Amino acid sequence: MTMVFSGIMIPVSTIDWYGRSVSVVFFNGCNFNCIYCSNKNFIDVTDRLEPLFKKGKAVDIGEIEKEILDAKTFISAVVFSGGEPAMHPRELERLAGFAKGLGLLVGIETNGYYPKRLEELIKKKLLDRIFLDIKAPIGDGKKYKMITGGIGDAGEKAMESLNLRYVDIEVRTTVFPSFAADVPAIAKSIAGRDCTYVLQQGIPEYAPDKNIRKEKPLTRDELAALAGSLTFMRDVRIRTREKGEERII
Ligand code: SF4
Repeated sequence: MTMVFSGIMIPVSTIDWYGRSVSVVFFNGCNFNCIYCSNKNFIDVTDRLEPLFKKGKAVDIGEIEKEILDAKTFISAVVFSGGEPAMHPRELERLAGFAKGLGLLVGIETNGYYPKRLEELIKKKLLDRIFLDIKAPIGDGKKYKMITGGIGDAGEKAMESLNLRYVDIEVRTTVFPSFAADVPAIAKSIAGRDCTYVLQQGIPEYAPDKNIRKEKPLTRDELAALAGSLTFMRDVRIRTREKGEERII
């Protein structure tokens, strides 16, 4: 089996799953076109990524499995990222099965647009944790459309993913100054769920949108203050370049 692979794999990462060393596999392609996507360069591969990239070509899936196997001594989980990994259900299932066969946990970083595909993985006991990206207040189709390049039902799909059972869920919002005011409304739409909420410091310099690129990233203290204002939540964290992940509530 071959898969279209971004060519990027981080054999050992300690920042993608709090408390764990993991391998991260970046799938190619995404159904969204977010104005601040910092992984654009992983999706539309460019020379900037030399020497790691394989030009978005189809590669034998066995190559990826070999890399996971080589990293196995140092990791306890594999995280599939992208792009949107759930766009590739067959390849995702095979790699998740391979990782589980090695006794590793499996996580997926997803925009949540394919809840049924995630549910299939859960039913087959191939998925332990979902890192769910929620970008705007769930009912705000207009804002979602603006951020994602036209996907008006993205919020409803993300909510379906959030409602999945028998899996751990971490909700993440990447925060840029121009969208920071939306965070309390996003938090309210997920309050009462049994999930961790992480505010990630958006890095404007990587954004495709030129207006976002002009913004200054929120400082660690600004993000901490925003997180600290969500007093109705049970577990709120921030993730910054300065200090990594910190629990605020
Ligand atoms: S969903 Fe994620 S990977 Fe896809 S375009 Fe948006 S930010 Fe980028």
